[in-house]
Amino acid sequence: MSEAGVRAVAPAGDDAALPFEVAALDVRGRAIQMGPVLNTILAGHAYPDSVSKLLGEALVLAVLLGSSLKFDGKFILQTDTDGPVDMLVVDYRTDGGMRGYARFDAEKVAAAEAEGRTEPGALLGKGVLAMTIDQGPEMSRYQGIVPLDGGTLEDAGHTYFRQSEQIPTRIRLAVAEFQSRETGELVRTWRAGGLIVQFLPKAPERMQADLPGGDAPEGMEVEAGEEDDAWVEAQSLVGTIEDHELTDPAVPAERLLFRLFHERGVRVFSPIQVVDRCSCSREKVEGLLESFSAEEIAESIEDGGIAVTCEFCGRKYAFDPDQFSGGS
Ligand SMILES: [Zn+2]
Repeated sequence: MSEAGVRAVAPAGDDAALPFEVAALDVRGRAIQMGPVLNTILAGHAYPDSVSKLLGEALVLAVLLGSSLKFDGKFILQTDTDGPVDMLVVDYRTDGGMRGYARFDAEKVAAAEAEGRTEPGALLGKGVLAMTIDQGPEMSRYQGIVPLDGGTLEDAGHTYFRQSEQIPTRIRLAVAEFQSRETGELVRTWRAGGLIVQFLPKAPERMQADLPGGDAPEGMEVEAGEEDDAWVEAQSLVGTIEDHELTDPAVPAERLLFRLFHERGVRVFSPIQVVDRCSCSREKVEGLLESFSAEEIAESIEDGGIAVTCEFCGRKYAFDPDQFSGGS
């Protein structure tokens, strides 16, 4: 199989979102395979495997969505649910910096792992997924909220684009753990991958047909228009992607896109590099502590000092309690 048409451009490599367009099908999207950046973020947390995998999916989703922002700013993805993992927070900044963390009940996660109930819906439970675009203090924040009710983050992404943006969209996410032996030591590494494909025809009336999708409540008749042939074809191609293709280092994003769309012609654009970079700082933590009441400051003192650990990157900040008036 020749891939000359794709290989003409230097490969994006790991941790770079690759924008693409299939003009013949009126679809555009982005694909990514994450390696070192994902590993650094997950290794820093040392979460249980099922939580790492879930956070990995959220990181990929945040890159796929955030890398479409046209202005400087931040894309924040946050879940608030009643399951063993009750909160995920991932943010992606348009300089490519990203971070993420998960809050979970260790006993409930251990029980879920023991029972083999580690699919995203079981770990998250029911609640909401909020997606926020923050373009700085001068601009208003935009927030879209969709329900999470036992489904995957892919499902929630589809709901978001159907309800809020009304753009026919397919999202795929996958995370896998690889093991290798290096100089006798067992080395475990995480890889993740994902793809977003959106139908963006010039004539907007061609978009309407997709919207009901397969999500109608049981027993309810859905008046659906004819789905556009181009979008039907794009969806069926995306439907052939297997999870292992998304994480396989031998199937980089260009190769996957070529595999899917070579008959139609796929054009890729400059990749957007992602880096592991937390936006915490001593000044920000100080600002937070300055907003504490005297009582809260008193409660924060341990061994005569105040130590704050960033939940995203693990960096530790130490302060002298005397520096804070505690609002008095
Ligand atoms: Zn941090």
